[in-house]
Order: sequence, then C-alpha cells, then structure tokens
Amino acid sequence: MMNEFLNKDATELISAFVNQTINLKNYYKSLFQYIENQNLIVNAVTSLEKEKVLERISKLENKNPQEFGILYGLPIFIKENIQKIGYSVQCASKILKDYKGQYDSTLVTLLEEADAIIVGTTNMDEFAMGSSNEHSVHGPVKNPHNLSYVSGGSSGGSSVAVTLGFSPISFGSDTGGSVREPASFCGIFGYKPTYGRVSRYGLVAHSSSLDQISPFSRSARDIDLILNIIGKKDFNDATTLNTNYSSVLNKISLKGKKIGVLRHLIEEDIEDNVKKSFIDMENHLKNEGCEMIDIQLTSIDHALSVYYIIASSEASSNLARFDGIRYGQRTQKNCEDLTDLYCKTRSEGFGEQVKLRIMLGTFALSSGYYDAFYGKAMDLRQKMSEELDNIFKNVDFVYLPTTPSSAFPLGNTNQNSVKEYLFDIFTVTANLTGAPAISIPAPVSLNQMPIGLQFMAKKGNDAELVAFAYELEKKKYTQTTKIPSNIFN
Ligand code: GLN
Repeated sequence: MMNEFLNKDATELISAFVNQTINLKNYYKSLFQYIENQNLIVNAVTSLEKEKVLERISKLENKNPQEFGILYGLPIFIKENIQKIGYSVQCASKILKDYKGQYDSTLVTLLEEADAIIVGTTNMDEFAMGSSNEHSVHGPVKNPHNLSYVSGGSSGGSSVAVTLGFSPISFGSDTGGSVREPASFCGIFGYKPTYGRVSRYGLVAHSSSLDQISPFSRSARDIDLILNIIGKKDFNDATTLNTNYSSVLNKISLKGKKIGVLRHLIEEDIEDNVKKSFIDMENHLKNEGCEMIDIQLTSIDHALSVYYIIASSEASSNLARFDGIRYGQRTQKNCEDLTDLYCKTRSEGFGEQVKLRIMLGTFALSSGYYDAFYGKAMDLRQKMSEELDNIFKNVDFVYLPTTPSSAFPLGNTNQNSVKEYLFDIFTVTANLTGAPAISIPAPVSLNQMPIGLQFMAKKGNDAELVAFAYELEKKKYTQTTKIPSNIFN
C-alpha cells in the first residue's frame, strides 16, 4: 500500500487525503511501520510521536470537508532544534538530553493551522554545526544512496526523511548551507528563503543573523505551497519581512531570463560530475531562451573566513545560555562554586565541534582582537552584499553549484574540521547577504551519487526563484530521488 504513496509530493498526497483515495489512519499506520524499519538503517529520525499523531488524526477526521486546511493530513518532520510542545528539542547534544519543547514555534503553529501533522523530529549535527551529520549524540545519519556515505549536514535527518518518503516535506535550518547541502547529497530540493521570510521564533539559535528555517521537498511546487503558509510577517520575530510571500507559480517563463553564471567557480578544483551537471543545465537554459551571462563574484574568496568568524562569534554568545541552570543536563560531579559548575556542565555536555566553535568565537570577540577579526569580517560581509546587489542590477538569478562534490564517505572529515568547512564554499554567500537560494537535484545516471545545482535571487524575490525552479522541474531538467520498490524487502 505504501509503495505508491512514498514517491508522491505533498501536493499529490494532500489531494489523496482530501479525496479519500486513502484513509488517513491506515496511511499513518503503514507509514509508522515503514519509518521504524528504515530508520534502523539510516538513523534519520530521533522521535516518532505516534500517539500524538493518532490523536491529531482523530481531530482532523471530525472536520467537515469545507473546513479542511490547505495541508490537510500532510506528515511533516522537523529538525530537533525547532520547538513544538512535548517534542524533543535536543539539538543532538548531550547537554539538552531529554529536553522537550516548551512552546510552539511560529513555524509549527502555521503548519498546524493549515492541518499538517508534525510526526516527529530528525537527527542533525549538534547545534546545527557541521556539514556531514556525523557530529551528533544520536550517531551519524546515513545516505540512502550509499550507506557508507554521509547524508550531508547539519540537517541530514530531515533530508533523508524526505529522500525516503517519511514525509514529502521536512524542515531544517540553514545557517551556512545546512539545508541546501544535504538536499544536494540526497537528490531532493532544499530551499533557503530570504533572511526574514520565515519566522525564527522557536528555532534554537546557532547564528541569529544567518539562520533561516528552511524546507526540503520532492518538488519545487511544494516549496511554493509551503511558503504560502509560512512566509509571513511574525510579531514574535522582529527580523521578519513586512511583506508576505506571494506566489507567481506558472506565471513566469524561462525565455528571456537573465542568468549570471559563476563560471570561475567550476574552473576550480571541483568534481568532474558536478562540472558536467553544471554545463548540462546551462545548455538546457540556453535552449529555453535564457540569456546566460558570465559573471564574477570576487568576494567568494573571503566567504568562508567571513562566515566562520561571524557564525562562531554569534554561536559563542548564543550558546552561553546552556549553563546547566536553566536548560537540560547539569553535571553530577561535586562543584566548588558556580563557575566550576558551569565549566563541568559545559565540558561534559558539549561535543568537540561545538567546543571548537565556542573557543573560536570567544577569541574573535575578545577585546584586543575584536577589530582584527569580527569587525573585519563584518566589513567584508557588507562588501559581499554590495557586490551581490550590483550583480542583481543586471541579472535575474545567479547560477552556481551547491557543493564542490557529491557526498563523501563517512569518517572522511572527522579529524579535520577545515576540510569539512570547505564544503560550504558555495552556500554561505546566500546566508551572509540574506539572499534566497535553492538547490535543485540534477539528473544523474543510475548508480551515480546525487548532485545539486544552485540558483540565488535578489533578496525578497523568493516567489520568482521558486517559480523559476518549477519551470525547470516541469521540463524535467530536475530529478528527485525515486524510492526503489525493493526497499520493502
Ligand atoms: N556547515 C556550516 C556550519 O557548520 C553550516 C551549518 C548550518 O547551515 N547550520 O556552520
């Protein structure tokens, strides 16, 4: 029974529920079983809230069809750093062991108002720091295309949940690429909205000026569907935009679109398969009548240094709240005084990568070094925004790869953080400048690991970017991972 539904996108699945092609309860019962079996292999899900889901289904089943919300019955997984009352918000950290949501994030409120069902939470890199989803107290997430490869991170669990059809939509957070990168490694869509398009109320902060709650999906039209619901001004988050998302799906054409091509990026050290996919897509765009214009993004040379200084600085400040007094775990050891209690709790509770960032950030912000590191990084961030603003005076979209290569084997970057940081080279610009960016799954041959291609738009032009991606999807220039039927054996 499940087989035919797992490859459906959200739009199709919701209409199957509304038209009663499938009964909600039966669907969820099979879904739970499927998830529980598969998750033993991939380790993507950290909690499946079966009882809460069944309660919610009973409520939805009592509704009159005229009152059905736009997302009626849709299963959705959320990353373990998003608040929902009673659901795990462990952030894949020992320090937040057993910590449960105390309130609903705006994201969850809006999704539930539209009749979606939050089924559970997903694995991640601890506090959303990482690109491989190996830095997790729950253990690594495995890539369904090859179980000895990483899923990508930090939102690896949410990415794999959509890749395997646990839910056609899931949410992660994208601070420097954490949704686009795993989407690209798994062969699905990942969308980082304009900074402020989606409320961050209820998202555990990593780097507040860069973080955006971001969806994974099996189709571009599903991103449009979901942004219509969550792309709203929120008075609980002062950084949200004043204008709501307003769809232009099916209202734009590829012909005449000006695409700025960051060709100098593919001339560097990147995987041949990525290069090939990049050029194939470029040819499709040319044939559709897009105007391809080679452009330069000179500031990308500094992007990673700027990103890691700013992200670590903000993280060191944001994570100060985890002190063993107010949240989660406290050391059981004897402590001499309050400072000793903080030290012991934090030394025991945080993982290696998080400690590294806290030290890096604290150093960058310390007096005497502030101007040399944080101040300089902020200046360069401003220059990057100016450069991108100028580029968008002449082009509609900027085209670049999502990552320099496809997924890498588990354990490859474990001992070398800098090697892992390099995977963010193409994604951090969107976060540093606030621009929206989408990773679309490029068509790949059988047995080849998935590859993502990225388009960025001017700040605020989310609807145009999603509609553009949908045109590519309609022409079959994208290829979402199909769930093989032998997965049921
Ligand atoms: N890989 C980046 C980092 O480790 C991005 C993380 C993210 O987007 N949450 O900081």
